[in-house]
Amino acid sequence: SIKQQGGNGFQFYNKALEEQIMEEQTIENHLHHAIERKEFRLVYQPIVNGERGTVEAYEALLRWNHPAHVNLGVQQMIQIAEQNGQILEIGSWVLEEACRQNQKWRKSLQKPDLVICVNVSALQFEQRTFTQTIRETLRKTGLPGHCLELEITERIAMTGMEEKLEKMKELKEMGVRMAIDDFGTGYSSLSYFTRYPIDTLKIDKSFINKMGEDQGAETIVNTIINMAHSMEMKAVAEGVETREQMDYLLSKKCDFLQGYYLSKPMEAKVVDGTSQIND
Ligand code: C2E
Ligand code: MG
Ligand code: MG
Ligand code: MG
Repeated sequence: SIKQQGGNGFQFYNKALEEQIMEEQTIENHLHHAIERKEFRLVYQPIVNGERGTVEAYEALLRWNHPAHVNLGVQQMIQIAEQNGQILEIGSWVLEEACRQNQKWRKSLQKPDLVICVNVSALQFEQRTFTQTIRETLRKTGLPGHCLELEITERIAMTGMEEKLEKMKELKEMGVRMAIDDFGTGYSSLSYFTRYPIDTLKIDKSFINKMGEDQGAETIVNTIINMAHSMEMKAVAEGVETREQMDYLLSKKCDFLQGYYLSKPMEAKVVDGTSQIND
């Protein structure tokens, strides 16, 4: 009967939830040793100047090698690490590794202005010591501030404005660049962005993905590009997968392109060997 089915459904739901909680607990335990066991690495995706076709930045993306979690998406992993605070330690590791790598590439690829883009989670950014951590990391690795871009989300930018404004100004004084990631998916009030010293808007890949089939998406993309330019910011399109998408974005004067059509994220070693094909 329907009633019985409902009962089974509920039981099933409970079991699924229980398993999920156990799974998350296991992930948390494994994450606890991930840094010391050197299970993390970064891969790097090129960000290409639309007009010149040159690679001007790489986005650092976290990967976790653990035999029990080969199919775990990084986003899911980050979410768990955010819930229990482990993201702070992981985030520091990412930041230092990314800066150190970019400092090497600036020399080996002979690109003194090469920028490394690093995703920063809300918990990290909201730490009182965040700007100090950035300052320390730049000092330790020798990377100039203007070669680091921090990607934050709209959610971070939204709350506690005055305090965040202070932080961003301090980061700006170090030359560090600021980007809003996944732009267009959040609920930010536009008035924030005129006050924050943001350099880059990264258009969320869901809009790029829908271009061509959804006119609304094209309008949004176009609007974000124009908005970025009117605020003297750069627009980056994420998730560019086709020639058509690229052509459209270039016709709309999108400053930078990132996506599988141009390149998938690469191992550092592979980037090492790209100095000839970069320009
Ligand atoms: P994100 O910051 O928006 O990064 C872009 C994501 O889009 C990456 O997924 C990248 O591999 C993927 N991508 C790039 N081009 C294409 C494309 O053409 N098509 C499609 N379908 N996808 C594309 P990834 O590496 O799985 O990372 C997912 C998210 O996890 C990131 O989204 C970011 O929010 C988060 N993340 C990754 N690394 C870190 C990190 O070190 N720290 C923090 N806090 N978050 C991170
Ligand atoms: Mg990002
Ligand atoms: Mg991100
Ligand atoms: Mg994004």
